[in-house]
Amino acid sequence: MLWFRRDLRLHDNPALQAAAADGRPVLAVFVADDALLEPSGAARRHFLAGSLRALDESLGGSLFIAHGKPWTVLPRLAAAVGATEVHHAADAMPYGRRRDEGVEQALAGHDVTTVVTGSPYAVTPGRVTKNDGAPFSVFTPFYRAWKHHGWRAPAGPPGTVSWIDPADASSTSLRRWTADLLDAEVPGSLQLPEPGEDAARAHWTDFLDEGLADYDEHRNRPDLPGTSRMSAYLKWGAVHPRTLLADLARRRGDGAERYRSELAWREFYADVVHRAPRSARWSLDPVIDGMQWDSGAEADAHLQAWQQGRTGFPFVDAGMRQLLGEGWMHNRVRMVVASFLIKDLHLPWQPGARHFLQHLVDGDLSSNNHGWQWVAGSGSASAAFYRVFNPITQGEKFDPSGDYVRRWVPELRDVPGKAVHQPWLLADGIPAGYPEPIVDHKAEREEALRRFAARPSAA
Ligand code: FAD
Repeated sequence: MLWFRRDLRLHDNPALQAAAADGRPVLAVFVADDALLEPSGAARRHFLAGSLRALDESLGGSLFIAHGKPWTVLPRLAAAVGATEVHHAADAMPYGRRRDEGVEQALAGHDVTTVVTGSPYAVTPGRVTKNDGAPFSVFTPFYRAWKHHGWRAPAGPPGTVSWIDPADASSTSLRRWTADLLDAEVPGSLQLPEPGEDAARAHWTDFLDEGLADYDEHRNRPDLPGTSRMSAYLKWGAVHPRTLLADLARRRGDGAERYRSELAWREFYADVVHRAPRSARWSLDPVIDGMQWDSGAEADAHLQAWQQGRTGFPFVDAGMRQLLGEGWMHNRVRMVVASFLIKDLHLPWQPGARHFLQHLVDGDLSSNNHGWQWVAGSGSASAAFYRVFNPITQGEKFDPSGDYVRRWVPELRDVPGKAVHQPWLLADGIPAGYPEPIVDHKAEREEALRRFAARPSAA
């Protein structure tokens, strides 16, 4: 039996190869587990449902989608088809690790062996260590050691597997669901990537041909199609990072090297959460613990303005509206809006991270919550707290012609050039419908630094 989780593909899927190695028929299963579905907003659920439909199609309609707790569902399915082994990839996240332990025990109680092969990473989290076995807490030495550790070449296309007809598992009282179970209605205006393995591979090929050469130069520009937009595919394993790394190894230039290092950030953050599971929810470094944060009605109103893209800072608002409009936000803008929430609005990083996880189609616990902590100054290899992003100069530098803001903030559509980043300076005043800035950036920056200096651990 093969349990699909965050590896919704057939190519280069080590758990699939292990499951099919002895030539016996395999039941393909996905378990819809409410613990993982509940924090996912409509965009991610919709994309997951599409990814499962695509997987089911490539399995010739053989995917058994079950709904329930994996440690209850899987032993029943194994018994129904007489499986003696359940294969899956490793999970490095706190819930996934606890769940997998529970599943292994439950299966063992039914004389079914669990076989874990591969993971959603080029190097399974926990394996890159210093010479003395200690983990890395800084990215650059991790990156060097990660490259040195290496990974195996991606496997070729999948061989023929004899998939068990899901109807054969119907002797359990378990219902076979379709991906509709997971689907969520999304507004027609939401622009999501096409789900599935074929779409992921085609998208990657286009990026290699058209985007990689300029990636190093354009990756910080939200006004340009400068990044790969592979994150949602990586999140659900429509493609394995090893496949991308193998293609990059055949290319020269700064773009390939930079892209490799960005993939390594994903691996680094998973490694950090693997060794420090608590850091998925709480600050890894207690440096900002006990700091004074805002609360009350004004703080709630600020959080809401930020979530809706109505802060009066166009670069921030464009990013927050892109998140709602595409389930994705450009990395540069993610950093700027996160800094704005923490340092201009004086709110802790967790509500921001939750909002991101709810709306991002690529929402990923370790990349997201450590991306937030990088900005907050409380993570591994973080920017220091006193690095406060200026939402105006960041906009002027990375969206120099203002096209990105005009794309997402229609109230400012008629403001020419980079004047769009400071609408309060326009001779005719702020265009109708667009809010005044909700705070004074310069004053709030000073206030953030004052609170940081006054935090209990600074005493
Ligand atoms: P590209 O620039 O094309 O990068 C290629 C791949 O490298 C990405 O798909 C991603 O897998 C990886 N990558 C790139 N930058 C990072 C990074 N800083 N950290 C970790 N991996 C990276 N990424 C997520 O996948 N899920 C998240 O939930 C997430 N939340 C974030 C929250 C904040 C506050 C910040 C600052 C960053 C977050 N990131 C997250 C990282 C990054 O913003 C996205 O991976 C990137 O924007 C995805 O777009 P892309 O595929 O076009 O990136």
